[in-house]
Amino acid sequence: MTRSSWRRHLPDFDPISKIKRQQRETANALRMLGLDHLPMRECSGVEPCRNGLCARCARQLRSHLLGFLADEYLDQQHWHFVTIRPEGWTMPAGEFRQFGLLRDHPLVENLVKRFRRMVIPGLIIFGSVETVYNTVSNRPAGKPFHIHLMVAAASAAQINGAVQAIVPLNGQDVKPLDIRRVGSTPEDFYEAASYAFKQPLLKKSRVAPASFGVMQSLKAAERRELIQNLGVHGWTRRLILSGIRCDSGRFRLTANLSATTNRGENPSSHQLLSGGLPQASRHNQLRGRRE
Ligand SMILES: [Zn+2]
Repeated sequence: MTRSSWRRHLPDFDPISKIKRQQRETANALRMLGLDHLPMRECSGVEPCRNGLCARCARQLRSHLLGFLADEYLDQQHWHFVTIRPEGWTMPAGEFRQFGLLRDHPLVENLVKRFRRMVIPGLIIFGSVETVYNTVSNRPAGKPFHIHLMVAAASAAQINGAVQAIVPLNGQDVKPLDIRRVGSTPEDFYEAASYAFKQPLLKKSRVAPASFGVMQSLKAAERRELIQNLGVHGWTRRLILSGIRCDSGRFRLTANLSATTNRGENPSSHQLLSGGLPQASRHNQLRGRRE
């Protein structure tokens, strides 16, 4: 894998014309709300405005994350995709108040700490806090804030144990905790990875509560409501990371993991990653060499 090779597995990734339209619509919404809108209006790939509501910046950060995952051959690890719906995280339709902290929410911080305390060799987590403007039969139906995580090296039982210990789950939801093994093809991996950290302002429309939803464009008033719920925040404030760092929009493995995936300088680590050895044995071999 090379930095841009992920793109061929995600041919529909954030089309630039659609992203520019969303950028313009969000800047208009900020202006209507009396908030600073000029940096987003002038935001370009060269000079990102770094606003977490900006579609152009979200595209850039998503693209950097996927490029980093490809560069580090992380698509060849075994992953679980996790969706967590905590109790009390749904904002009712017509509610304009700000949800509050996103990735710095105590529940998220405690969950990540819990995973780290489990000392799982090779553990890597990335994901986000997100929400969606839901409609059923074209009527507003609430905005469920929730968490998506991609987790490498932990078993489904370990993930279930960590979440159940920390997060009070939404009993109203049919499936407040969903843990799925990500398939083994690059398409499976990049689809799941791009789903774990999406654009910030989304709308899903259903014909009935239990039916499958379709993504739609937000109307101007819906966009303003969602912006107020999310609040103005920096471009990395929804992003949950463990084992990975993000500095000024650039991703890298944290020091303890980078030695295990340091390709180029050490061909054997590359082979080990591609070879699909069990996580523990790969980690132990590499750790043994490092120590
Ligand atoms: Zn921007």
